[in-house]
Amino acid sequence: MIVRKNAAAIAIMQQAGQQLAAVFERIQPMLKPGISSLAIDQAIEQALTTFDMRGESKGYKGYAHVSCISFNDEVVHGIPSSHKICALGDLVKIDVCASWRGYCADMARSFLIGVSSQAQGLVQAAQGALDAGIAQAMVGNRVSDISVAIQREAEKHGYGVVRDFAGHGIGTHMHEEPEVANFGKPGRGPLLQPGMTLAIEPMITMGHYEVYVARDGWTVKTKDKSLAAHVEDTVLITHEGPCVLTRLVGEGGYEKR
Ligand code: MG
Repeated sequence: MIVRKNAAAIAIMQQAGQQLAAVFERIQPMLKPGISSLAIDQAIEQALTTFDMRGESKGYKGYAHVSCISFNDEVVHGIPSSHKICALGDLVKIDVCASWRGYCADMARSFLIGVSSQAQGLVQAAQGALDAGIAQAMVGNRVSDISVAIQREAEKHGYGVVRDFAGHGIGTHMHEEPEVANFGKPGRGPLLQPGMTLAIEPMITMGHYEVYVARDGWTVKTKDKSLAAHVEDTVLITHEGPCVLTRLVGEGGYEKR
């Protein structure tokens, strides 16, 4: 069942999204060579606490952290660890789902530690694919119109689009219907209606799109060891167009309506 949010729920989700975006902004200066992904996760948890937010992944199927932090050929669901240390040239993906007053916001960004021109193009393509997907999150379109736009944008640059994991509806639960694939054919799936809230999250690879789950049972990696980028925003569908809840107003986020 797809839950369309009423005005009260939307106001809470909007606040949750702005706070989560602020958490990302707060931790970004820490992302330097030498810091462990566990230290990053702990800083995120601390920042969430200051906003009175709850990390939704902590406790989910036994997962012990508020974030997933994935390095280089790890696509998503990397487990924070004191042994995983950011080094110059690393491509680090941070994914956080957190709730405030019972409603979730889900957000991921890809960060480059230092400069790596190859990875930079990949990250830009992932961001472009996310933006292209969001642009299709309009009343009257169908879910797969988002998927097609993401795939087209990523493949235009010669990158792979991961098939095995997808975006999702979001609200009082971290994962709700519908599923939002990152590939597909146009005009399929449920009609997009005002009040629907979707977590749109392209996962883009420099090589082939095939992935596998590592022996830790969580970390998703590319089979060909190619670099992967992952970005995610929580988006509200309105009659006036898509409203990105997890970007700060003035940085691509939309004013409250
Ligand atoms: Mg997420």
